[in-house]
Amino acid sequence: MSATKIQPKAGSTTHVDVVIVGAGISGIGSAYHLQQQCPGKTYAILEMKETFGGTWETHKYPGVRSDSDLYTFGYRFKPWVGTPIASAEEILKYMGEVIEENGIGPHIRYGHRITRSSWSSKDNLWTVEATRLADKATVTFTCNFLWMCQGYYDHEKPYTPDWPGMDKYKGLLVHAQLWDPKIDYTGKRVLVIGSGATAATVIPAFAEKAAHVTMLQRSPTYFFCSENKNELADRLRQIGIDEPTIHRVVRAQIMHDQDMMTRRCLEEPDAVFEELKALIRNYAGADFQFEPHFIPKYRPWQQRLAFCPEGDVFKAAAAGKLTVVTDTLQTFTEKGVRTTSGEEIEADIIVAATGFRLSVMGDIPFSVDGKAVNWHDTINYRGMMFTGVPNLLWVFGYFRASWTLRVDMLGDFVCNLLNHMDEIGAKRIDVALRDEDKNMQILPWIEADNFNPNYLMRDIDLLPRRGDKPEWRHNQDYWAERVEIPGTDLDGSEFLYDGRRRAKVAKVRKIGVA
Ligand SMILES: Cc1cc2nc3c(=O)[nH]c(=O)nc-3n(C[C@H](O)[C@H](O)[C@H](O)COP(=O)(O)OP(=O)(O)OC[C@H]3O[C@@H](n4cnc5c(N)ncnc54)[C@H](O)[C@@H]3O)c2cc1C
Repeated sequence: MSATKIQPKAGSTTHVDVVIVGAGISGIGSAYHLQQQCPGKTYAILEMKETFGGTWETHKYPGVRSDSDLYTFGYRFKPWVGTPIASAEEILKYMGEVIEENGIGPHIRYGHRITRSSWSSKDNLWTVEATRLADKATVTFTCNFLWMCQGYYDHEKPYTPDWPGMDKYKGLLVHAQLWDPKIDYTGKRVLVIGSGATAATVIPAFAEKAAHVTMLQRSPTYFFCSENKNELADRLRQIGIDEPTIHRVVRAQIMHDQDMMTRRCLEEPDAVFEELKALIRNYAGADFQFEPHFIPKYRPWQQRLAFCPEGDVFKAAAAGKLTVVTDTLQTFTEKGVRTTSGEEIEADIIVAATGFRLSVMGDIPFSVDGKAVNWHDTINYRGMMFTGVPNLLWVFGYFRASWTLRVDMLGDFVCNLLNHMDEIGAKRIDVALRDEDKNMQILPWIEADNFNPNYLMRDIDLLPRRGDKPEWRHNQDYWAERVEIPGTDLDGSEFLYDGRRRAKVAKVRKIGVA
């Protein structure tokens, strides 16, 4: 693996075997796998920010932390040694160590915003243009394979509804994604608009110093309250087990428990909800009132279940520091907001925890042989590759399990694929519908009754579509995919190498299960 620093002159073109887009947790993990499993390949990571971390660098609101445990949100190859729920700072430190320990740094081009990406079938190459932010120069890379690790939302422009009267408000209105840590909220009345993971994170942090916190939610969320510790990990440490073993065993335990939980959410949602309530009562007291603010309208885990370490949201509620209002916002006023039912909520600071603006493929214009790619015209292969778009893979993780589980899994898949292409001398890989897929129903990417977060539903027409067979959808099911994806037959008829299907070779390429 050559690690020469590539600092191309404006107007010049640099060639690498693989361009990885984005230095978030997906891009760094993918680089690690490429180095380990395809040591002969050259690569560059193009990142528009001036540093790594993606999500964990963008979000700076009080208390910003993971809502999954780091045993599974951490990579399978680097043990996590802290508390299960980690702050953004701890996650960045962990990622920094991965970069440092594996010599990934020299491959990263920070301050490179990709502005265009075009595939040439004549050359079997992607040409990737980026603006180098330091001098505004356009720099060009060519590569054989494009590994899209750019996430799924716009890091610069979050989603804020166009509420009436916003211009009247005299206080400070800020979206959580754009929060500046210099803002002082000591002794202030803070209104958080929205529920879900971000609100669950900021509310206890605000409650520590603010005069009072109000959460205005359109509809209630499910919360999972638990101590921020893993007893199995603590016990294994106590008896002297090494960290790599603890990491492996605790990951297995957590994934098993989550699998059970997901199944139970589908099979017996009412029983699960009663258990969630019992956990909340541990922190908020036996007489805590769930009606009307904590009785959601959807099934547990149809949208993300908000994790609540040490029951912090409910401790704040029980201590009288948090008021919840379940209503819709009718208008902003000079002093705060008025809800549809006429309630006035006054606040010095209003924080919009209203979610993301979807960004498909980093909003980069793509073309194949001069024709613009409309992602909605493509059909996704297992949520990672797309018909009509060769030599490209998107790392889109899980929502019910840790995102990073899929980073490791797809890392194995891409490396296996690249090595296979080298073995058979192929320069181009496509996925294509087979004869048996001809009458397959073509549907939107998201299965609304399975998982339906607002930011995906709002812009569903920007996303690729899916079929109704396992190969042609991202089913968000880690436990099925951990068997199916490593067991993929790379000579299967859904793959075209240099435009042709391979004669069926009865060989299933096995790679390790995470
Ligand atoms: C506050 C918050 C907490 C979360 N907590 C969890 C959690 O606990 N567990 C979980 O599983 N998931 C969580 N998620 C989901 C989370 O986004 C993913 O888990 C994960 O961090 C995504 O990593 P990524 O590297 O794929 O994308 P990102 O973190 O979005 O990183 C993508 C990178 O690509 C860069 N990029 C994008 N477009 C371009 C371009 N055109 N040119 C160059 N660079 C570009 C961006 O600058 C960014 O650095 C959370 C999300 C948020 C917002």
